[in-house]
Amino acid sequence: MLYIAHDIVTITGPIFSPGFIEIEKERIVNLGSLNDLSAEKKRKAIDVSHLSIFPGFINAHSHLELTALGPVIPQCETNHPSFFTDWIRKLLLKKNSLSLEKIHQGIKKGIENLKKQGVVAIGDHISFNIDWAPVLHSGFKGKLFPEIIGVIPEIAKDILDRSLKKKKEHEKNSSKISIHPSPHSVHAVHPDVLDKIFRQNPPLSCHIAESESEFLYFSESGGSLVDLINEKNQPIKHHALSALDYLSKNKLDISRLTLVHGNYLTKTDHDLIKKNKLSLIHCPGSHRFFGHRPFPLFEYLQEGKIIALGTDSLASNTELNFLGELKLAQKTHPRVSLVSLITMATLHGAYALHLENQLGSLEINKSASLVGYRALSKDPFENPFLALQADLVLIDGQKI
Ligand SMILES: [Zn+2]
Repeated sequence: MLYIAHDIVTITGPIFSPGFIEIEKERIVNLGSLNDLSAEKKRKAIDVSHLSIFPGFINAHSHLELTALGPVIPQCETNHPSFFTDWIRKLLLKKNSLSLEKIHQGIKKGIENLKKQGVVAIGDHISFNIDWAPVLHSGFKGKLFPEIIGVIPEIAKDILDRSLKKKKEHEKNSSKISIHPSPHSVHAVHPDVLDKIFRQNPPLSCHIAESESEFLYFSESGGSLVDLINEKNQPIKHHALSALDYLSKNKLDISRLTLVHGNYLTKTDHDLIKKNKLSLIHCPGSHRFFGHRPFPLFEYLQEGKIIALGTDSLASNTELNFLGELKLAQKTHPRVSLVSLITMATLHGAYALHLENQLGSLEINKSASLVGYRALSKDPFENPFLALQADLVLIDGQKI
């Protein structure tokens, strides 16, 4: 299969305008400038000369199971530390009131929306006790992170055991998505079970330094998160300045850990991120919803941090819209270039999900997972920002 396009934006190499991309089965086998294509091949090509082609977008952090929930409380207008814990309480109440059927319908709707926008891979957090099949067989590439949660050791251990068992069962069927049980967050999992999860040394995804209440929990052993955990009658004392500091002090291997959010990082966190080349996932809509302190995206990118983009869930966002997240990031961070934002949505997303050998750029031998947007602007990087949805989406060479 051969496509001729207005632009082929490779991310790691040149932009070919106009260009071609040739696909065999699920891989890219050739790409380049249209001038270098023979007349015979040109005749056989599929003409998408109205499109700018990019590597497919990667939504590095979602909770598709919460799509049916919608925002559980109105967006925070003024940042106050207990907003986050109030939200958790309401979220748990509302989630428990939803039927499994509603949750599954929401997952399917979320998958459809993301595909329309040009997402080809996801990093999705999911509960152990709902059906994982709709996500695993969505056609997306990526990683599924069953969330291990529980400050009571027996509960957390039970969730981990069940998740590992379920993972084994699902792995009998092929899926483009691999499964990696991960801690929801450091403070929400009993230390013994946290230790067990990390000792397996898989790629992990974990909410880290998400809220001011988490920051206060570690730095002052105070705040509303301490109250919330104490309600479980299982007071845990983490002798560390932050979640990452805790993992590091306890010699847990963080080298394959992807950090979701990182909104309240400490000096030690920055050092650990640099030393271990850890990726961060920024979720612009969710960040705005919680009224967190400004995220220094421009500065972080200047320092060379790898920052991917995520939608987070609809429980803390106004819409499940990856293009909307890109547009919001552009509006909130006008100093960040469009090239950087698209790199976050592609190459950085691939790094965050440890899929950089397959995804994130258009290169020979990588997966033919790509997306095309109408070439309305001369600057191809502007085109996803002008689009409401994608005009062409391929995952592993298959049109969807
Ligand atoms: Zn999340």
